[in-house]
Amino acid sequence: MKLVWGAITDVGLIRASNEDAFIADNVLFAVADGMGGHNAGEVASALAVASLRNASRAGIRNSDEFRTIVQNANTAIYTASLDDSTQRGMGTTLTAVAVVPDGDGHVLIANVGDSRTYLFRGDRLERLTTDHSYVQELVNEGIISAEDARTHPRRNIVTRALGIDRNVNPDVVSVHLSPGDRLVLCSDGLVDEVPDTHIADVLRQHSVPQDAADALVMTANANGGRDNTTVVVVDVADDNADVPETSPTSSISGEIPRQAAETTADIPREALVKRKIRWGVLMFWSCALAIVILTVSAIGMYARSGYFIGEDTATSSVVVYRGRPGGVLWFHPTVSSRSTLRMTDLPPNVLLDVRNQRAFSSGLAAQEFLQLVQQAVVNATTTTTSTSTTVG
Ligand code: MN
Repeated sequence: MKLVWGAITDVGLIRASNEDAFIADNVLFAVADGMGGHNAGEVASALAVASLRNASRAGIRNSDEFRTIVQNANTAIYTASLDDSTQRGMGTTLTAVAVVPDGDGHVLIANVGDSRTYLFRGDRLERLTTDHSYVQELVNEGIISAEDARTHPRRNIVTRALGIDRNVNPDVVSVHLSPGDRLVLCSDGLVDEVPDTHIADVLRQHSVPQDAADALVMTANANGGRDNTTVVVVDVADDNADVPETSPTSSISGEIPRQAAETTADIPREALVKRKIRWGVLMFWSCALAIVILTVSAIGMYARSGYFIGEDTATSSVVVYRGRPGGVLWFHPTVSSRSTLRMTDLPPNVLLDVRNQRAFSSGLAAQEFLQLVQQAVVNATTTTTSTSTTVG
């Protein structure tokens, strides 16, 4: 299989630095989009590309081999991030195409994150990779459309990336290519600015891969150029065709910066992956919170479960309270019902009951008790009155 390719990376119109990296090297093509403060994103993407290049020298023969190589790149970045505090939390996306040696057009495509590999075949543009991004999850769940995803405010959140966690799970798919097929690898700087239909238009207009790659970057910049944009275009030529001289034999971008320096005012790309590592922590706190809520609910139910009679000091009258005398934690008793009884009306034994805040199993029982007391008080008054009348 003869390949002709072109590649370009561009900082764009807004960003102060380019955190993308790529490799285009006959049997290996990749785009990496780094993330992390200071220059860490550049370090991560460059490490990914370098690690991949070294590991693939002997050729990548199957999906398992490719997965291991990508996993090793993950380990290299993860280890580097632990070694240098300025690079803590750095990560990178990676989309990579490996031509299987003697594979007769057979290629493997690995993907982690939201950079993409497309296949342009028979005038149709098809995505070979699935983004590992928050918006892609929303699309999968039918919450937003694929077109909404392109402009969604949280589209910068990736759910998988190299270097963020000890382990990573790359997607690897296998594709058989034929002459006339064209692969396009790109960072999200392209897809955020240019819809797929427009990408296809540009590809149609440029038969030379480097021209197509350049034109795509120009289009992204014309549409805003808010991010770094990297494009690698790989054409499968006829086996008999001469490889044009315009095609570079090998090109790689992404020198690994030695010093991390504060240079940019970039909006940092977010890795939701961080949330993933903290999943265990989240579970722990969720359980802890649930226990607290249940405990408080149980205490609350207990605190509000009883009734007792007592004095309403403001009016010197007897009332039925709901709750526990004195309250429990911040659950204070509340007035459930009032009576016309005044403290001064009460016979001594009832006065003692009120002072001792005698408890009842229900509000009704407490009310009935007070009614009996009321009745007794009225009777006593009547008796006293009638007696005094009789006497008088
Ligand atoms: Mn990007």
